[in-house]
Amino acid sequence: MDNKKSLMRFSLMIAAVFFLASCQQTTDRTDGNEQRAEETIEVSETTESQVMNVEQQINLTMKDGMYTLDPLPYAFDALEPHIDARTMEIHHGKHHQAYVNKLNDAIKDTELAGMNLEDIFQNMSKHPAGVRNNGGGHWNHSLFWQLLSPDGGGQPGGKLLEEIEAQFESFDKFQEKFNNAAATRFGSGWAWLIVDADGKLHVTSTPNQDNPLMDVADDRGVPILGLDVWEHAYYLNYQNRRPDYINSFWNVVNWAEVERRYSELVK
Ligand code: MN
Repeated sequence: MDNKKSLMRFSLMIAAVFFLASCQQTTDRTDGNEQRAEETIEVSETTESQVMNVEQQINLTMKDGMYTLDPLPYAFDALEPHIDARTMEIHHGKHHQAYVNKLNDAIKDTELAGMNLEDIFQNMSKHPAGVRNNGGGHWNHSLFWQLLSPDGGGQPGGKLLEEIEAQFESFDKFQEKFNNAAATRFGSGWAWLIVDADGKLHVTSTPNQDNPLMDVADDRGVPILGLDVWEHAYYLNYQNRRPDYINSFWNVVNWAEVERRYSELVK
């Protein structure tokens, strides 16, 4: 019974793909204007390369078709005194692990098993809340750990700094805007620096475990910097003082990694 259902779903999907492809062809054929046709091709190439970049964002480790939790790229106490060892240990080992486990449960034996999370995010509104919360949770934390470093802090350099100064006036103004996004996100969520489809930088925030790759996000783009402002990220050391945690975060930002991600998207 289940097999029949999924076979039917698959057939419908294939039929839809062919239908859309034939519509595209008809448009191209009936459009006598060559210039116009060229423009169409250019647009679709841009879209494709943006999607491709999105796919390359994070390599999530899988074993036997199930997501697994990678170890932190540094020791639990490496970010002290800015982020304490106990917080890192619980945040990674308990919270992140729980997202991984629940994501595996949510996609098991569904058509989403084996799909890139980035691809799932682009149609997030069509999928169950369990995939949204735990897929976002796994992806967001996997990125977050890479964006922190005991050798972090300071400012970025190169093209990223130039672009930050061009779009936010100065690095200080950018920080102010990011701090504000992180401090005013009501309840749980994330603050982000994203690159939109035109290569422009934006500061934004999302609730819960959403992220700007999801079709449900208000501001969409590829995150190159993110800050977890869930209480579980800071409560043991900072209690209710979220602004103190946000200020400390800047001391451990791995700008080399942020710059690398930026340069992958804007060439
Ligand atoms: Mn978290």
